[in-house]
Amino acid sequence: MAEWFKARAWKACVGLYPTGSSNLPLSASLLDPPPSQAHPSDMPLAEPILKELGQLLGLERVLTAQEDLIPYSFDGTAALREMPGCVVFPKTTQEVAQLLQLANHHRIPVVTRGSGTGLSGGSVPSPNAIVLCLVQMNRILELDQANLTLLAEAGATTQAISDATTAAGLFYPPDPGSMKISTIGGNVAENSGGLRGLKYGVTRNYVMGLEVVLPNGEILWTGNKCVKDVAGYSLKDLFVGSEGTLGIITQVLLRLIPKPASKKTMVATFAEMDQAAEAVSAIIAAPIIPCTLEFLDRITICCVEDYAKIGLPLDCEALLLMETDGHPAVVAEEAAHMEQICRAKGSTDVRVARDDIDAALLASARRSAFSALARVAPTTILEDATVPRSELAKMIRFIQEIAKKFNLRIGTFGHMGDGNLHPTCLTDERNPEEMHRVELAFKEIFAEAVRLGGTITGEHGIGIAKKSFLPDFAGNAQMRVLRELRRTLDPNQILNPGKMFDLA
Ligand SMILES: Cc1cc2nc3c(=O)[nH]c(=O)nc-3n(C[C@H](O)[C@H](O)[C@H](O)COP(=O)(O)OP(=O)(O)OC[C@H]3O[C@@H](n4cnc5c(N)ncnc54)[C@H](O)[C@@H]3O)c2cc1C
Repeated sequence: MAEWFKARAWKACVGLYPTGSSNLPLSASLLDPPPSQAHPSDMPLAEPILKELGQLLGLERVLTAQEDLIPYSFDGTAALREMPGCVVFPKTTQEVAQLLQLANHHRIPVVTRGSGTGLSGGSVPSPNAIVLCLVQMNRILELDQANLTLLAEAGATTQAISDATTAAGLFYPPDPGSMKISTIGGNVAENSGGLRGLKYGVTRNYVMGLEVVLPNGEILWTGNKCVKDVAGYSLKDLFVGSEGTLGIITQVLLRLIPKPASKKTMVATFAEMDQAAEAVSAIIAAPIIPCTLEFLDRITICCVEDYAKIGLPLDCEALLLMETDGHPAVVAEEAAHMEQICRAKGSTDVRVARDDIDAALLASARRSAFSALARVAPTTILEDATVPRSELAKMIRFIQEIAKKFNLRIGTFGHMGDGNLHPTCLTDERNPEEMHRVELAFKEIFAEAVRLGGTITGEHGIGIAKKSFLPDFAGNAQMRVLRELRRTLDPNQILNPGKMFDLA
């Protein structure tokens, strides 16, 4: 286990554990002042609390057996795991509210979980926490053609939302690589991006309203179907990206847009990294904003080809996946222009998809990048250092130098069009000496990203993995406001304690 991850994880998690029995009826017990006695972190969830949870949801929706809890002890982040006290599966907002009242009363940590695909440790349990998993709240409640909105429960998968939208001839653009299983609640809580972020933006740009259960069990609605609404602070924007620390999102109202009439997909390969970076700059300066402008480096290309057998050339340093969508005439013109730019910048091979099947095959070069890299080594640490587009070539070169300096295998791919890179270290968490080098390497990578005017995370969030970098990045004034907001909304610190930042 990587101590540098673990150490960051739980130092703030003291004094938040169950205080034992409550035989009062749930509603009455919740009105009482909370017990003052705090329990040590290694104390399991008390039987009476498990009994209360069972009475609330039914025993079949409360997991307590060790073997049942193991799948909920980690998320998509390498080298982080912790056993929860139990896992509960509410089916309604009212149940979520009652669960939070109970947890707040007993000061039990609650870790909200969608599908657990997060890459910063956000849904890794605090020790003995209640993991509140929303996957059974997965209904699509309404698709409103007149207002171009979709209302869904938070546990609906991104794919289900995309499918329902497509079936109505409309378009929901955010497409995280995990969309087949990630939930819309998780997407909102992380403000997830995706391959279409360059042209269409990220999840936040499509959230019109949210139903949120606050830590004390109050249910709050923020936002509505109006295109314009400036009444009060924009609270929905506070909950977008809040990583399960301020409230539990139970319903999401999303903005939909018309479906683009056509799309063209192409792949260009380059003998040198700088040629690819220059092609990206020239495409944007053209000005063309493709819906997808993704990048793979040599290590990633080789792993993808070995895994997916797409027919990618293995003798190149960089690959760009480009997609343009919209009116067919505009798409044809933009595609021809992008091809011309890539060739002018030195691309030796530009492959344009012949049809939808070919397009899906080319796009799979990028979509399978993470899985392809993950096969190569026991531990895959994927980060998302992000820089302004103009600094991309510098940042990619820096990552390559760092890999050499620390003798590590780092494959890099990512959203070239929006400066969001995924340096991915292929390592082995059982080797503490190598993990120490990984830690040092990423420290330098984040410092360089910030020095170039970028950020420590473009889309994966802070969670546990990036927690130690936030104070320096955000500065004192911002940290003070962040802490005050969290104390105000969650005075007993039950929601995702120890994540994102410490309150002390
Ligand atoms: C293969 C792969 C590809 C990926 N590609 C992308 C990508 O392209 N872009 C991108 O941005 N991310 C990507 N991710 C990261 C991840 O999929 C996203 O962060 C996703 O939004 C997480 O959704 P989830 O349902 O799995 O949430 P979880 O991992 O379960 O939770 C994530 C965080 O959100 C909180 N949370 C979850 N649901 C709620 C809720 N209803 N209310 C309040 N808080 C909640 C959790 O407490 C946790 O802090 C990828 C991950 C993998 C494994």
